[in-house]
Amino acid sequence: MSCWLFVSCCRLSVRMEVKCILGLVVLVAVSAWAEEEALSASEQIERVNKDVVRSPDEPYIEDDVAYKSETERNADPCTSRGCMWPKSTDGKVYIAYTISRVFSTRELSIIERGLQSFHDVSCIRFVRRSNQRDYLNIQSLNGCYSYIGNLKNGQDLSLSRSGCVYHHTVQHEVLHALGFHHEQKRSDRDQYIRIVLANVTPGLEHNFDKINTLNQGTAYDYGSVMHYHQYAFSKNNQPTLVAIPDSSVQFGLASEMSQMDIIRLNKLYKC
Ligand SMILES: [Zn+2]
Repeated sequence: MSCWLFVSCCRLSVRMEVKCILGLVVLVAVSAWAEEEALSASEQIERVNKDVVRSPDEPYIEDDVAYKSETERNADPCTSRGCMWPKSTDGKVYIAYTISRVFSTRELSIIERGLQSFHDVSCIRFVRRSNQRDYLNIQSLNGCYSYIGNLKNGQDLSLSRSGCVYHHTVQHEVLHALGFHHEQKRSDRDQYIRIVLANVTPGLEHNFDKINTLNQGTAYDYGSVMHYHQYAFSKNNQPTLVAIPDSSVQFGLASEMSQMDIIRLNKLYKC
């Protein structure tokens, strides 16, 4: 299509040519934007976080999960220390949040829509912070990341303006803050997914560690917005994750929370 346009452009006057070239630039820019938006949550997050260089005063980040220190990285805070957000007497779970002023109106509306999507399917309710002790501090920091569960006394949830402000990415990071790990870290994952460590970038093997998760009696979910994609952290463009027993099963392609993500959330918080 671009070639046809360019050929047509060549037959036009100089003035028209300028307009046409400008049009082409817009077209290329729009298609690049569309391509980026078409990535799944896990692909988008990996792309943004891959080149992030962190300073010593930043939290310890493993993929997109933040920890206060490196020694905590394999813990399951929700089972060991109770990191759920408390439920109100009316059965709702109110979670206070603040949003940095750096986001544009468009970005703000994407983030708000992401938060609102939890209201539509669960008892989770995000409310603007007044004086609540515990809250999410949504900012554009270095990459896309969140802590797991309620850390108490406020916690950062980073949605970098450079690539993290998408509906599925907001849902993904918020699900971390609600207490969920990546799907392929589930305690029962070895029945559903095989990790091909030989294809993993050296030093990033810990991203595939298994965790003693509470699975709420729900089935393993290849369609979860929390599932990595087939080539996550690959050093050679070969798959790092393969479905079992059927290796042709696709996963890590979610553009929003799956039905199972929603069921699991409702079960954990007894909505
Ligand atoms: Zn994540």
